[in-house]
Amino acid sequence: MTEPATQAKLDAVEVRNPASGKVVGSVPNLSAAAVEDEVKRLRDAQPEWEALGAKGRAKWMRKLQEWLLDNSAEVTDVIQSETAKPRADASLEVPMWADLINYYGNNAEKFLADDHPSPHSPLAKVKSLTTAYRPYAVVGVITPWNYPLIGPGLDVVPALLAGAAVLLKPSEVTPLSAVELARGWAAIGAPPVFAVVTGRGETGAAVVQNSDYVQFTGSTATGRKIAVACAERLVPYSLELGGKDPALVLADADVERAAAGIAFGGLFNSGQVCISVERVYVEAPVYDEFVERLTKNVSELRQGQDDRGYKFDQGAIATHAQLDIVKRHVDEAIAGGARATTGGRATGVGTFFEPTVLVDVDQSMSCIREETFGPTIPVIKVADEAEAIRLANDSTYGLSATVWTGDKARGERVARKLEAGAVNINDAFANMSSYALPMGGWKDSGIGARWGGPSGIRKYCRQQAITSPRLPTQKKELIWFPYN
Ligand code: NAD
Repeated sequence: MTEPATQAKLDAVEVRNPASGKVVGSVPNLSAAAVEDEVKRLRDAQPEWEALGAKGRAKWMRKLQEWLLDNSAEVTDVIQSETAKPRADASLEVPMWADLINYYGNNAEKFLADDHPSPHSPLAKVKSLTTAYRPYAVVGVITPWNYPLIGPGLDVVPALLAGAAVLLKPSEVTPLSAVELARGWAAIGAPPVFAVVTGRGETGAAVVQNSDYVQFTGSTATGRKIAVACAERLVPYSLELGGKDPALVLADADVERAAAGIAFGGLFNSGQVCISVERVYVEAPVYDEFVERLTKNVSELRQGQDDRGYKFDQGAIATHAQLDIVKRHVDEAIAGGARATTGGRATGVGTFFEPTVLVDVDQSMSCIREETFGPTIPVIKVADEAEAIRLANDSTYGLSATVWTGDKARGERVARKLEAGAVNINDAFANMSSYALPMGGWKDSGIGARWGGPSGIRKYCRQQAITSPRLPTQKKELIWFPYN
């Protein structure tokens, strides 16, 4: 990371391992002036980067990929130190980066190639028509703490390959992984078109004030503020926000698979995934069997902090503030008549909360209405498919959903009735298995161009229409002055 000269640091941000509470690093809390300086540097370097073309830029991304793979163990240590995730979870992030660079590195040239729309009128037939994709100069990327390496990657990789310069502001809770990215970029000697600025919300706000396009991933509350700031500046943005993803278990489902898939879908990364299963609706005939199986699966999970081993399935919660939300949702549910069939308490060590299944839950409870982002799975019994769909859609969020059924056609029919940006049938997180799919939320879960596919890179470009006469130059066109 290059450190801007002017009034660079307001103070330092300490980074702590949430399981042990130990300080594992510290980064500068950069001022707005420092962010402006960084943006000036990026703006100066961007035209040369754009001129490299998609192939030239992909070469640099391949070098970064090589660096990440060579330094995978070290980078994964950093991810683990600031998140206290199990090793198995943390070690997914470098391969996901590598795969993302494969996908957009291989396809950037094709996705950014000029389009030649066919003329629709006799007048247009005599012109050569081109749509060109020209990058924004500086893309600001602001990210949360749950996936400190691949989270930024989802935006940084396509934006750089599009030809933009990128300013990344990682979460103040987990900035060290992003600093590793900056270290890698410097180590490969790449052009100075990628910079990391660390700090709190004010640093993020300065990124919003100085970027030509803003890509934000984080809470709905912060997303709203960013949308207002972008509207005032008239700059485009896309927001990937919170979720409250429902799972629908229909009576014809393979209950054993559903209970295993929902345990994973709800508790992977201790439930700190935007597309975690956050509430479950089960048709009455299979409710008892489902609850019994889910409870067994969840009660068998091993929780703890494993330095480099693979001994645990569940780690700590990223912050004490997040732990407080989890506690409140569970306490309010239990006070309202719900029951934990397993778990239900903070362990008292670090920020660990027992993996929890809640039953006798009501649709009005905070554990159903608000995003929990923790290791809890509340379950509600429903009379039929229609009630499951109605309750699933009864939410301000619309990120993703899962449907569990023995009938694929039924699953697809139900999927098309759900208000969600992605629906996985008989699977958890499957929509993240390919970068070719669009990924993004409906309703309060997001707005703007999606991640993935051609639009996931084209969103970092402005479209430009270019025309020229198709025939040898004439002195004047048919409709030019004087009219006759
Ligand atoms: P957050 O909104 O508190 O912070 C996200 C980032 O925004 C941080 O880097 C923070 O410093 C910055 N920020 C804060 N105030 C700002 C401001 N006024 N202007 C600009 N930047 C500002 O979110 P969080 O607690 O770090 O992350 C958890 C949230 O992220 C959850 O709601 C989760 O659902 C969401 N999330 C969504 C997705 C998705 O794809 N939809 C993915 C991961 C996480």
